[in-house]
Amino acid sequence: MFTEPLTLPESRVKQSLSPDGRAAAKSMVDAARFFHSRGWLMGTCGNLSVQLHRVPQRILVTPSGKDKSRLQPEDFLLVDERGQTLDRSGKASEELTVHQEIYRLTEASAVFHVHSISNNLASRLWLDAGQVVLEGIEMIKGLAGKTLHDRVHLPIVANSQDMRSLADSVAAGVSPECPAVLVYQHGIYVWGQNAETARRHVEIFEFLLEYAVKLHGFGLSSSDNQGRGIV
Ligand SMILES: [Zn+2]
Repeated sequence: MFTEPLTLPESRVKQSLSPDGRAAAKSMVDAARFFHSRGWLMGTCGNLSVQLHRVPQRILVTPSGKDKSRLQPEDFLLVDERGQTLDRSGKASEELTVHQEIYRLTEASAVFHVHSISNNLASRLWLDAGQVVLEGIEMIKGLAGKTLHDRVHLPIVANSQDMRSLADSVAAGVSPECPAVLVYQHGIYVWGQNAETARRHVEIFEFLLEYAVKLHGFGLSSSDNQGRGIV
């Protein structure tokens, strides 16, 4: 007599994700490969998540310790508000707590976190100022709701190896004015209303920070434009 197996085979588990979940996983795989190709997501560093449902919370997140250049859609873990995996065994990224804090404080449905040379350098150069100020740069228009005339204040917060402390540190920098927080000599957390927007925001911030760091090397500033060169 046929009986149901106690554990679902992998092929059936994958199909337990909703179409939205599968689309989100595919978007994150594509984003992770692109970020890796740019040197922003090397080795096992960084993490990506999409919040599929706010209450009860359902988050699709990268697994802990997985090389991001080799991610497959089925590698993502579906977790609840306690970080417990729902669809199968596995350990979610350790920085899930930070993502959850950002979801709590914003309207975001996607949070992407990358480590790059430019974002680490920027966090060091402007630590004393507590922020990177960006002004008069065309790429600012790529951030949701921003125009060329907007000043962007990207907060820089302290790093920690304790995930609760790191989540509190990042939370202190979260505001509706800027969809990102830079963590000192660690990386950047960027968010958006969906995976595509979060990916675009990562690309925009990485461009802006690389440009700001290079301007600084020439003795120029990314924040002293004051309308010059704009008609
Ligand atoms: Zn990190």
